[in-house]
Amino acid sequence: MTESRSHDRLAGLRDVRERIARAARDVGRPEDAVALVCVSKNFDAEAIAPILAAGERIFGENKVQEAAEKWPALRARYPDLQLHLIGPLQSNKAEQAVEIFDVIETIDRPKIALALAAAARKLNRTPEFFVQVNIGEEPQKSGVLPGDLGELLGFCRDEAGLKISGLMCIPPVDQLASPFFAMLKKLAAQQGVQKLSMGMSGDFELAIQLDATHVRVGSAIFGARKAPIAI
Ligand SMILES: *Cc1c(COP(=O)(O)O)cnc(C)c1O
Repeated sequence: MTESRSHDRLAGLRDVRERIARAARDVGRPEDAVALVCVSKNFDAEAIAPILAAGERIFGENKVQEAAEKWPALRARYPDLQLHLIGPLQSNKAEQAVEIFDVIETIDRPKIALALAAAARKLNRTPEFFVQVNIGEEPQKSGVLPGDLGELLGFCRDEAGLKISGLMCIPPVDQLASPFFAMLKKLAAQQGVQKLSMGMSGDFELAIQLDATHVRVGSAIFGARKAPIAI
């Protein structure tokens, strides 16, 4: 990787940080109420290094296997990392996910909740858990339907013994995101869930206006990804 490319990423990061701070200020929220999850999927350790060196510690990956290959070596150098799983999870990867991730944002069905609970007991390691909501009720997208959220949260609490601390969503790509962010905020309030992971490169300022506690930003920091990722 060349100097200039890493420099571009630092400029991207600075710009994102400024925009987060401004969006928070505009609605009277403290800047530190919004955590920046730097989405590093499809980028290698060399691309990630300058972002770590610039002080960022919260990163998001959407595949367990890719994270397992990239992050253990980086974590050895940066033990205060917080790694988020933001992609769909299969139950046969639950144990590896609990081993690698600090926050798992994508619980969307009872089977995954049970698999994660079993893995956490076995490994004696409990990440933080969010539930992903399919906020636009899109057939191709992961996440629990809004109407089924209460039941899934009850199952996580009463049957799986998992504490759910946040909700996460990915609104439909082709529509204004604000109404979907507002809906997630309302669901969280109704259900007594504290954290809200919403907002990506194209819409994180809108998400901050609607009380996002975590924004997941990839391309605005790292540049365009090589292959489009189905999300
Ligand atoms: C890739 C991805 C992001 C980041 O998307 P950008 O538009 O590049 O910021 C955020 N959330 C999820 C779940 C993703 O898969």
